[in-house]
Amino acid sequence: MKQYECKKCGAVNDIELVTKGTQTGLYCKLCGTWIKWVGKDEMMFAEQIINSNNSNESKLNNQKTTAKERVEAELAEVTDRKNKLYYFVGTSKYAKLSAKSKELLSKQYNIMLEYIKVLLDRLDNWEE
Ligand SMILES: [Zn+2]
Repeated sequence: MKQYECKKCGAVNDIELVTKGTQTGLYCKLCGTWIKWVGKDEMMFAEQIINSNNSNESKLNNQKTTAKERVEAELAEVTDRKNKLYYFVGTSKYAKLSAKSKELLSKQYNIMLEYIKVLLDRLDNWEE
């Protein structure tokens, strides 16, 4: 199937139709870059893509999770990853890594700790 790709940001089918005078152009929805002018024959196809994108978005919005639940899920995931890394540090596989890799993993670990703290703080101070 034919697709529209933004040459600037690489987005695929993230498009919108904008009328400029007598012409209608396809623009990237994400970065606003002009992609091409669309003739009458192509208009139907472009509209189909836009409509199917819109229905995907509304499907996402219909998922019965609140913003807070999504932050909680994120917190659970980051905590899980942090714990896995913690255990990994105790393994012989970790012991064989280069000093650079160990340094990067330790940075990653500290950032995850910080990130977890921020997420916990956000949940504590949650405003609907
Ligand atoms: Zn773009």
